[in-house]
Amino acid sequence: MAITTKKTFCRFCLSCCAMDVDIDDDGQAVALRGDVSNPLSGGYTCLRGRELINIQQHPDRIRGALKRVDGKFVALPMTQALDEIAVKTQQLIDQHGGRSIASYNGSWAWSNLPTLPLSKSFHRAIDSPSVFSPMTLDQPAKAFMLCRFGLWAGGIHSFKDADVAMFIGNNALLSQYAPAGGLPPYNPARRLQDALNNGLQLIVIDPRKTEVANRATLHLQLRPGEDTTLLAGMLRIIIDEQLYDAVFCEEFIDDLGGLRASLEPFDLDYVSRRTDLPAEKIVTAARMFASGPKGAASTGTGPEMSPRGSLTEHMVMTINALCGRYYREGEVPAAAPPLSVGRQPKAQVVFPPQAWGEGFVKSRFRGLTQIGDEMPCNVMADEILTPGEGQIRALFSIGGNPMVAFPNQDKIARALEDLDLLVAIDPWLSATSRRADYILGPKVALEREDATLLGEMYFEEPYAHYTEAMVEPQGDTIEEWEFYWEIAMRLSIPLSIHGQPVPMDQCPSKYQITELVAQGSRVSLAKVKAETEQQGGKIFDEARAVVGPKSAHNHHRFRVLPKDVKQQLAEVAQEPLNQKGLRVAEEGYSHLLISRRIKQFFNSTGHNLDALKSKGSTNYAYMHPDDLANMGLSSEAMVEISSPAGSVIGLVKASNDLKVGVISMAHAFGDTDSDSSNVMQQGSSTNRLVSDEQHFDPITGQARQSAIPVSIRAL
Ligand code: SF4
Repeated sequence: MAITTKKTFCRFCLSCCAMDVDIDDDGQAVALRGDVSNPLSGGYTCLRGRELINIQQHPDRIRGALKRVDGKFVALPMTQALDEIAVKTQQLIDQHGGRSIASYNGSWAWSNLPTLPLSKSFHRAIDSPSVFSPMTLDQPAKAFMLCRFGLWAGGIHSFKDADVAMFIGNNALLSQYAPAGGLPPYNPARRLQDALNNGLQLIVIDPRKTEVANRATLHLQLRPGEDTTLLAGMLRIIIDEQLYDAVFCEEFIDDLGGLRASLEPFDLDYVSRRTDLPAEKIVTAARMFASGPKGAASTGTGPEMSPRGSLTEHMVMTINALCGRYYREGEVPAAAPPLSVGRQPKAQVVFPPQAWGEGFVKSRFRGLTQIGDEMPCNVMADEILTPGEGQIRALFSIGGNPMVAFPNQDKIARALEDLDLLVAIDPWLSATSRRADYILGPKVALEREDATLLGEMYFEEPYAHYTEAMVEPQGDTIEEWEFYWEIAMRLSIPLSIHGQPVPMDQCPSKYQITELVAQGSRVSLAKVKAETEQQGGKIFDEARAVVGPKSAHNHHRFRVLPKDVKQQLAEVAQEPLNQKGLRVAEEGYSHLLISRRIKQFFNSTGHNLDALKSKGSTNYAYMHPDDLANMGLSSEAMVEISSPAGSVIGLVKASNDLKVGVISMAHAFGDTDSDSSNVMQQGSSTNRLVSDEQHFDPITGQARQSAIPVSIRAL
């Protein structure tokens, strides 16, 4: 049988690893592997990406539309399902207004590029702000705090140029996630080792001895939830020892003196006691980072999931700014996303538009507002369950699984049951889709054309790839973005992207819709398609640009001490501590529970695949061996873990990576029926331990999903 090999890229996560796919005479994908000729990923794939063929051909995959009738799912044509959903949607808009229609665009909606802009256009057209995404579940502050702090228009130092890097709560060898300045996800172990061999100084701040911490030049294994305290202490040292970039600060930092005054309570003794770190390690870390001269501090999801995520992110931005970790006039930033809007990099501070507060739609709960053009996930369940103006009555859950992703799982379960219409676009029966009124099976990665546009914000090089579909789609499926187009067309709702109308007489092709998204890009989509569809992704050197001088009229400076940051720093310093430096509010609990990544799953995706489940289907509760011994527990023993918000069952495992008093579990597992009989098969939802109402970030609504005080009881 003849085999044709085609170039594509993975869309399991946003890293877009390049792949070669073998197609047989029948048009079926029979094998795939990393594309060793690719200049970005160099043949690297992870175990999840190698499942793309299995996903496409999986016997349990939903390949059409299903409707729940009398508690059972029955198949119906996709067109009929869309007709019925459109009718119901219109009824709800007529009865309750546009705001009653909500969308949650999950991880796999993000992987299908036009879904987000079309979803937002749809919601704008029906006057509904009820758009939610994982953006406000794990790391909203990275993007949104820039409008408060300022953004360097020349770009932050990339890992490839770094002399020093500081990873805060980012297990970069496992997470396949590279924030700006962080470790790129391709062959990360080799890449890191090469950098270390070339003299990189790596500081890791993490309450766990993670895979990346084990390779660090310096690991600060701090008490969970104290990232802000540690960074405040390091900043104080950097200022007092005048280790900052004085010339840069003189021109671009506002109120350095005020910042120093606010850091007064964070002296070395205090920070050492509170973070449970030796004082000399804190000093060494501050001096090491400040010595640079190049390289950035970056965070993973853990610090934002911990208390005061937006304040922590502000401190990270501040330490980078004080040390001047940006490309300057005349330098060429490593990153220059080819398919994004091409702006001339400049040696100046700019302020993105305000993203929350005054002028933004208010939630009815917790004083939160829209953040950007989304509502915080924190309030979704209450917005569904609480009658009154603005109550959500329909939810389109697109490529995600709110049942395992959102805080307070019991409340989310009640909320989903309470809806008048729940539509899930999901290739599998999941904790969310099995509660849906309609499940629509999506086209999966190998069946789709796609461009690397969304992933390119993480690329360290100006890299792009346009892929054709590798195989014909199976069944009667739909793409996530097409869903919005189909419903809008039925309701005569006009859609637009970047101000340009989307054709509504006939569904646009994937290329047409992607072209609308990529308007104004550094490199045209047509060129990217022409040069990469057959040959594979490439680096577009023409996208690179030299950082220009700052504009004559630009006098912006980074705001290192806005009013609310000053207030929050004071609040942190006033938190009562016990003699050991532990927050008194947590004294009644035996452990602090922290989140962790695991390599086989990407958030809530991948849990249905046997090959991935064989690496572990449960989210073990890792504890220090001394803790297990003290409780008389052996590995794999069952325990009940309780927080102020709820309880879950867990299976413990010994781990020397943790300090005594810390327990670590992965999130996005389990369902409301997780119990002792099935915890080994499906794990437990740590979100049952999370309160959406008690502990949340005041700006982003990010619930405290890590550093949660818990008690543990042997079962
Ligand atoms: S890192 Fe992400 S994109 Fe790369 S193979 Fe793994 S899942 Fe796919």
